[in-house]
Amino acid sequence: MHVSRICSDLVKINSENPPGSTAEVIEYIRAFLEALGIRSRVSGNAEGMCNLITLKTGKRLILCGHVDVVPARDTAWKYPPFSGMIDKRYVHGRGSTDMKGGCASILSACEILVNAGHDLPATLVFVCDEETGGENGTRRLLADGDLTPCDCLIAEPTPSRHPAIGQKGLCRLELEFTGVPAHGSLYPVVGVSAIMEAMALIAYVQKLHVKTFPVSADLEEILVRSADVLKKEFNLTDVRDVLRHLTYNPGTIHGGEKSNVVAEHCVLELEMRVPWGCAIPDLKSAIMAHAKNAKILLEESHNPSMTDPASTLVATTCEEVKKVWGGPVFPIVQWAASDARHLRLHGFNVLEYGPGEIASLHAVDERVTIESLEKAVLVYQGVMERYAGMEGKPQ
Ligand SMILES: [Zn+2]
Repeated sequence: MHVSRICSDLVKINSENPPGSTAEVIEYIRAFLEALGIRSRVSGNAEGMCNLITLKTGKRLILCGHVDVVPARDTAWKYPPFSGMIDKRYVHGRGSTDMKGGCASILSACEILVNAGHDLPATLVFVCDEETGGENGTRRLLADGDLTPCDCLIAEPTPSRHPAIGQKGLCRLELEFTGVPAHGSLYPVVGVSAIMEAMALIAYVQKLHVKTFPVSADLEEILVRSADVLKKEFNLTDVRDVLRHLTYNPGTIHGGEKSNVVAEHCVLELEMRVPWGCAIPDLKSAIMAHAKNAKILLEESHNPSMTDPASTLVATTCEEVKKVWGGPVFPIVQWAASDARHLRLHGFNVLEYGPGEIASLHAVDERVTIESLEKAVLVYQGVMERYAGMEGKPQ
C-alpha cells in the first residue's frame, strides 16, 4: 500500500490525547503487520491506551512511533481534522505530521522489505501517550522491562536533512509562597506579600535567562549549527539563545485573599528548559535561595540529553538521509522534550528522524507532503538494510 494511503488511514482513526484511547489505531497497525506475517504483542489499560511491540524481529534496532495526537480543538480547518484527505502534494489532518506520517513511513518500509523476502531487522514499537508524557507508553514499557537497550530511531518529524540527537532538559517547580498578612493600606511598610515574593522570584529567573553556561567546543559547534537550521525551520530569530540559555515560563500563578489584605498565599507554577552545561541541583538551590518563604509542592526535572554524534545510529542514519536528500546532512539538537529522554536514561542510543511540515505541528491544517513520506520510507528502508548487515556482529 502506498505510504500516503497508510498515513491517511491512520489519520482517519481519531486518537486524540486526551482522552487517549489508541485501541483502534493500534489494531490497524497490528492487522497491517499480521498481513505481512509479522507477529506483535499489544498491551494496554482499561482506558484503551494501547502499545504494540513486534515479536521475533531484529534486536539491535528499534523503530518507534507514538500514535496519539494532540486534540484538534479548532473548527476552522480547511478539511475536517480527521479527513485524511490526500491531494496532489499532501496528506491532511491531525497527526499527519506528528506523527502518523512517520508511523506510516515505518510500516511502508517494513512492507517493502518483507515483500522482498527479508526478515525484519528491527523491532517496531508503537506507543500511546507521548503527547502527555509517556506514562502509559514508553515509560510503562521501560518499567516493565519490555525494551532492551539498543539503537532506537523515533520517527518524529524533523527537518529533512537533520536528524535530532539531543533535547534540552527541564525543571518544573510548583512553589507555594507564604506571606505575613496585614492591612493593605500599610504595605510595604507592614506585612510580607506572598504575591510580591513570587514576583521577585520571577524577576530573578528573568536574569538567569541571560546567563550562558560552559560547554565543550564540539557541543558548541552542534548548538550553532542547530540554531541555524531551526531558525529557518521555525522562522524565528534568537534560536541560539533558546538552545544556549535557560528559558522559563511562569505558567500559572494564583494568589491573594482580598484587595485590602497583604497576600498570605501565592502558588506559582514555573517551568524552565535547561540548557547543556547547567546543573539542575545548582539551578534549584539558586532558585530556592531567592524564594526563602516558599516551599516546593511539586517538582519534576531531567537533564539535557544527547546521543553521541559518532555513534553507529547517528552515522548510519545521516548517510542514508544523504543518499535520499543529498547534502549537507548533519544532526541537530532541539529545545523540545520527547520520549527520547526516557530511553536515553535507560541506556538507549536515540535519534529522531521523520517526515513532516514542522510549521503545521500541533496547528490547524496540519499536513505532511507526500514527497517527505516517500523519502522517509527510503531512509528507514536503507537504515534497516544496514542493520540487517550488522546482525550477528558484535555491537
Ligand atoms: Zn510527536
